[in-house]
Amino acid sequence: MMTTVKPSFEIMIVFDNRCVKPGFLTGFGFSALIYNHFTENYVLFDTGSNNKILIHNINKFNVDISNIKKVVISHEHFDHAGGLDGLLQINPNLDVFIPMDSEISFKRAFPGVSFNGVAQLTEIEKNIFSSGQIGGSYMKEHALFLRTKDNEIIIIVGCAHPGVEQFIVKAKKMADIKAIIGGFHGFRKFSFLDGIEFIGACHCTQYLDSIKERFPNQFKRICVGDKFLF
Ligand SMILES: [Zn+2]
Ligand SMILES: [Zn+2]
Repeated sequence: MMTTVKPSFEIMIVFDNRCVKPGFLTGFGFSALIYNHFTENYVLFDTGSNNKILIHNINKFNVDISNIKKVVISHEHFDHAGGLDGLLQINPNLDVFIPMDSEISFKRAFPGVSFNGVAQLTEIEKNIFSSGQIGGSYMKEHALFLRTKDNEIIIIVGCAHPGVEQFIVKAKKMADIKAIIGGFHGFRKFSFLDGIEFIGACHCTQYLDSIKERFPNQFKRICVGDKFLF
């Protein structure tokens, strides 16, 4: 008899500008919806640039928006934070996690909303961590580290402006990294990806072809409408 192993997380791609499956919509930006099997909660990472596209794609996965109570915004750019207003209209009590240094600009843009500014590595719910804010004076950014029941880390990044390697180095202090998904921006320090089984570079990744060439078996194409189980 086959035994089915229950996953720790389901990761649904709900926003990306490179690839889209039939029935889903595309726009500039990135967003991933995570279902956490440890808590049976949804956590939304980033919101793309447009709430109508975002909500369409989430509904397409048969997820009721009102069941999403926690949103993590990686950084201030509109292609990650642009869909937030529409979600707040549906649920004004959303728990929104942002980099600590971006609190002033988010509070200015969304008066009356309470934001959780994250400075250090923080467990926002069981086995889902904010990396804590990383980056210089230009802009701070945080990523998510998901810890599976096998004690492996899945990293989800927005644009990774501070450099993907910074998030990798920090996550490795917790456990081995199994997967990384999101925008890699201008990242070229490819040796930091060695040993990672699943490399889902998408969105703003400039050197996508080089990554694909160097990691032909690990590279995974990421499309809006994809669901990955870990
Ligand atoms: Zn971006
Ligand atoms: Zn950005």
